[in-house]
Amino acid sequence: MVRTRFAPSPTGALHVGNARMAVLNWLFTRKLGGQFILRIEDTDRERNVPGAEEGICDDLSWLGLDWDEGPGCRGYPERGSHGPYRQTERAEYYREHLERLRAAGAVYPCFCSDAQLEEERQSALEEGTPLRYGGRCRALSAAETAARAAAGAPFAWRFRVPDREVLVRDLAYGEVRVPAGEIGDFIVLRSDGQPTYNFAVVVDDITMGVTHVVRGVGHLSNTPRQVLLYQALGIEPPVFAHVPTVLGPDRQKLSKRRGATSIAEYRAQGYHPDALVNYLSLLSWSSPSGEEVLGRAQLIEQVSLDRIGVADVVFDGAKLRFLSARHIERMPLPELLAAVEPFLDPDRQPIAPDLLPVAVAAVRTHLTTFADIGAALSAFFPGPDAAPPVLDAAARPVLAAAREALRSSGWEEEALQAALKQVGTETGARGRALYEPLRLALTGAAHGPPFIPLLQVQGRELVLQRLREALAREN
Ligand code: GLU
Repeated sequence: MVRTRFAPSPTGALHVGNARMAVLNWLFTRKLGGQFILRIEDTDRERNVPGAEEGICDDLSWLGLDWDEGPGCRGYPERGSHGPYRQTERAEYYREHLERLRAAGAVYPCFCSDAQLEEERQSALEEGTPLRYGGRCRALSAAETAARAAAGAPFAWRFRVPDREVLVRDLAYGEVRVPAGEIGDFIVLRSDGQPTYNFAVVVDDITMGVTHVVRGVGHLSNTPRQVLLYQALGIEPPVFAHVPTVLGPDRQKLSKRRGATSIAEYRAQGYHPDALVNYLSLLSWSSPSGEEVLGRAQLIEQVSLDRIGVADVVFDGAKLRFLSARHIERMPLPELLAAVEPFLDPDRQPIAPDLLPVAVAAVRTHLTTFADIGAALSAFFPGPDAAPPVLDAAARPVLAAAREALRSSGWEEEALQAALKQVGTETGARGRALYEPLRLALTGAAHGPPFIPLLQVQGRELVLQRLREALAREN
């Protein structure tokens, strides 16, 4: 049974770089019928931002990335039998695993103070030697350690790194070998009892039964330490797949300052959530068919971890917009109506509710985001300061014939088609010569929504009035 996790720290909004990990894990898990876990990595309490966890839950559910196990959050009950799902609530698991490491002789108490460690760090920097723990407390005798602890000296627990090469097998980056002696003894539990990131993640992944760890390549350098912890605990590590960092258009790491946008902002801007899922999946992966516009079901069917590339990926806002337009275009009309609804301003929206389906269906291909709906609908009516259309002599008979035909025509699609055909037959005008003068008379613009919906949305009264006015101006 495949079990994956998305493990955000609640330090702020969910951004594209991080959301991409949720997308990949979720797609891969859904493909294999496994379980997707949401785990909140909140050990670094000072960095936690109030409300961030709720924001992450909201964003994941807006993206449609449902989790099988996770904390109670924003109306979702806690789910799953491997909880709690916040690291700050898992202290007993860390204690228990520390005991195992102690029993195996894999950790030792370290009494070094922050000041001592900082001093060591400074001199290493000055001398250009590697920044590694020097091993002072590793060498303490059991008696001395016991005496210091009995005297109440605070201490952390440090992992005793064995003197051998560490091998990490990564699905994307291959075999990563770290030579003996490169990793210094590292802290697993701080003197205040808090686990460090590497220790907490390993304990959680073990106790939650995680089988595949898919995360940003920024964590690849942590992985050798994690592998050492697995080995010391006598547990087979999960499968690792690290995914390259997303860069901004300037090829620098995407950051808030460099225009990284949070998922909540894309939502507010009216992007289709499926377009984000589609786009974010393509940032690290390519479909075997080379197709780019992929719905959820297709992504689930096609995704595989062995197609994760390690080349740099550059965020491309234009491609995201392109995909958003394609996904909007494909939506069933009732869904589209519901999705644009929050973006309609009821006071400025000129279209009667019963005509909204016709209007929205007519302009669906004009929408890049749901937020474009206002502008798209306003194209059904002449703008407040649209100049009166300039019509040439050939336009006059077309407008006159249209006025006649539309006065008595039915207003459903077929009747309107027939009326326009009749105008064409009577005047000999065809194509652009027929539609352009009519469109100009009705909206003041040469381009806009398809013509039949335009007539339907404006309604007979307004259409006849606009034609009359245009003809009057011609005189
Ligand atoms: N909490 C870590 C992060 O947000 C993820 C750790 C992991 O996936 O192992 O970067």
